[in-house]
Amino acid sequence: MKAPPGASSPSLMLVTDEAGHVLSSCGGGARVLGGAPEGRLLAELFGEEPARTLLSRADAVDVPWQPPVPEGSASAPWHLRGRALVGGGVLVQVWGPAEPSTGVPTAWERRIAPHLLDSSEDLVDQQRAFMLSVFDADPNLIFVKDRFGRFVFVNKAVGDLFSLPPDELVLQHNAQVHADEAELAAYNEVDQRVLSTRSELYLEESVSKADGTRVWFETCKRPLQGPNGELFVLGISVDITERRRMEELLNDTNQRLQLAVKAGQLGLWDWKVDEKTVYFSPTWKAQLGYENHELPNTFSSFHELLHPDDLEDVLHVVDRYVKEPSSGDRYLNEFRMRARDGSWRWIASYGLVGRNNEGQAVRVTGYHVDITERRQREHEEEALRESLRHTNERLERLGRMKDEFLANMSHELRTPLNAVLGQTEALAEGIFGPVTESQRGALRTIEESGLHLLSLINDVLDIAKGNAGRLELLLEDVAVEEVAQESLRQLREQARRKNIAVAYSSDGEVRALRADRRRLRQILLNLLSNAKKFTAEGGRIGLEVSSRDEGKAVAFCVWDTGSGIAPEDRQRIFEPFVQLDAGLARRNEGSGLGLALVRRFVELHHGELQVESELGRGSRFTVVLPVEPPVSPRSVSPSPSPSQSAEPAPAPVPAHTSAPARGTVVIADDSEVNTRHLHGYLVAHGYGVHIARDGVEAVRLCRELLPSVVLMDIQMPRLDGLEAIRSLRADAATASLPIIALTALAMPGDRERCLEAGANEYLGKPVRLREVLEMMRRFETRA
Ligand code: ADP
Repeated sequence: MKAPPGASSPSLMLVTDEAGHVLSSCGGGARVLGGAPEGRLLAELFGEEPARTLLSRADAVDVPWQPPVPEGSASAPWHLRGRALVGGGVLVQVWGPAEPSTGVPTAWERRIAPHLLDSSEDLVDQQRAFMLSVFDADPNLIFVKDRFGRFVFVNKAVGDLFSLPPDELVLQHNAQVHADEAELAAYNEVDQRVLSTRSELYLEESVSKADGTRVWFETCKRPLQGPNGELFVLGISVDITERRRMEELLNDTNQRLQLAVKAGQLGLWDWKVDEKTVYFSPTWKAQLGYENHELPNTFSSFHELLHPDDLEDVLHVVDRYVKEPSSGDRYLNEFRMRARDGSWRWIASYGLVGRNNEGQAVRVTGYHVDITERRQREHEEEALRESLRHTNERLERLGRMKDEFLANMSHELRTPLNAVLGQTEALAEGIFGPVTESQRGALRTIEESGLHLLSLINDVLDIAKGNAGRLELLLEDVAVEEVAQESLRQLREQARRKNIAVAYSSDGEVRALRADRRRLRQILLNLLSNAKKFTAEGGRIGLEVSSRDEGKAVAFCVWDTGSGIAPEDRQRIFEPFVQLDAGLARRNEGSGLGLALVRRFVELHHGELQVESELGRGSRFTVVLPVEPPVSPRSVSPSPSPSQSAEPAPAPVPAHTSAPARGTVVIADDSEVNTRHLHGYLVAHGYGVHIARDGVEAVRLCRELLPSVVLMDIQMPRLDGLEAIRSLRADAATASLPIIALTALAMPGDRERCLEAGANEYLGKPVRLREVLEMMRRFETRA
């Protein structure tokens, strides 16, 4: 039930004369003045300044005032309000801090001080005028209605509400000044109830004004008996529009807050530090699976559920924020709490510290958010990342091992192959005696197979090097026409055997490009031999050379009328070891490495590779290379390189001689297989040959013999080839000996290392005998 408006009356009312002497007082608050005020001056009671304001500008002035004896803990000021009285003097209303604007007690009329009235005048008139001035001074509505709903008395505040002088309202019916039907009906209904039950009613009601605004009142209506026994309704209404607005606002804010808390599943908590009490909201408890009544609002509820490993940290953080204002006012803690079902939940606790003027924490409020799922996700992600890291490391290690293995294996394979090829060559040339035609045929087969094996090994080595990022280009100026013709020449014979026509065309616009000659030839040969391989007998293949990008690039297009490649396979074929039809490929002798290498070499040249194809009709592989590729760390310029190009015409084989006619050669190599055929070949060509099995022996032999040429292997026991070369160069006697280094060229930098150590030339293994001979002859002519 609402409090009656009388409850918010002024604590005290004083009537003074014009000079400010208190003539009369009423109300229960006299003790704030420290005793009865009668006879004292306003200035004494409230101070000079407030007294002056009350007396001079008395009407509707609201003056704040601090009582000398504060009530309770409130330090808020009290209110003084002055009203000029008819006939002089002031009515002073005194309110406590809470309620600044409420009514005059209706009992006042009985307390009018007799000395306010001039005895020489008409007492009744004076009293009436005085009474009216008291009512009119009241900001609340005071009205009396008869049983027909007509106003028989209104104070000024009622008139103001309807924008009419109070006198004009008298005897008007409510309906004549008020338009809102619903409100009118409500007023009448209440009036009738008061009259019929003869009891007072408290209610909140609204009045819609002519300008459309709505004012809210808290009204007390009570029956009032007139002099003739007639019943009236007395109404006193306090304007509560502002209060209602605040209430609505508060309500709204509250609702919004509650919604937010609910939507966010926030578990609120509130700790009053000085009172040592704590509150946990039902959601706070529900996060842990508890009903509201199952957990008491005590600190131990929190402490006991906190994970023992987190307890110390959590308390430390809270303690710091509470005790040290410099830490700030907001904090976030993350910890585990045990739920009702025994599981651990991860909780994020956001706290806000409220401090008094001295900076002491008086209240800490905040909320809990259950972050278990987020934590789990983070945990799983971390575990996944960790295992991925491990897997990647393992894969990388495996990859490195595989590449090293491939590089080593192919290196190891090339050494015996070197011997096979060398000996075959020597045999075929009749170095070890005459050979019959059928033996020559067998030797050719051995050589072809050996060469095929060698090219396979080289491909594997290239792939391994490419994977390890160790493929290098030796860039030089390459004549386009020449390289195209070379590649075609190597293929024509095989194509002829398969009755395949080979076409060639060129627009002749680009004459040369900067490229690695050997790699470019490999690109073209691989594409051409694929074209031949996958084209049936009687078909056609071809190479077209044309300029691109206004001569800045050159396109090599290899086409065929063969089997074609299905669209879904056109990417796959560039992966190493991929062959579309393994059976066919086996018939065709392939390794599945050709296109993978083509792609890698094209990339190294900063070129592009395209494939167009139609199943059953043929394919076109187009390689576009820039004429001047950007220089990259992967490419180096060559010095005269160990040419593996078209073999020079075989040197005429002399008869088997024993006496050294040409000069002395020292061969330093620990492998007997390698040296045997070189030895035989060179002896057959008239050289005196001496073998050293390690570096130390090689140096000794060279100093002793001062040979015309030294063939120096690099990997040797005791002293390796590089060290041996260095020590020969350091000795004046041997400083200018022609030295040819024999390297596997398996590792990048091999070539540079040989030349740096002092070798004049180097040859990649397996060495071709004729090449060694050519090179040695060049030295002789220079000498
Ligand atoms: P391979 O040693 O088998 O030729 P490649 O890497 O050169 O290996 O080619 C991979 C596969 O791509 C071949 O086995 C073949 O199936 C397909 N292929 C390559 N070139 C052609 C072509 N011109 N016509 C049809 N299929 C081709």
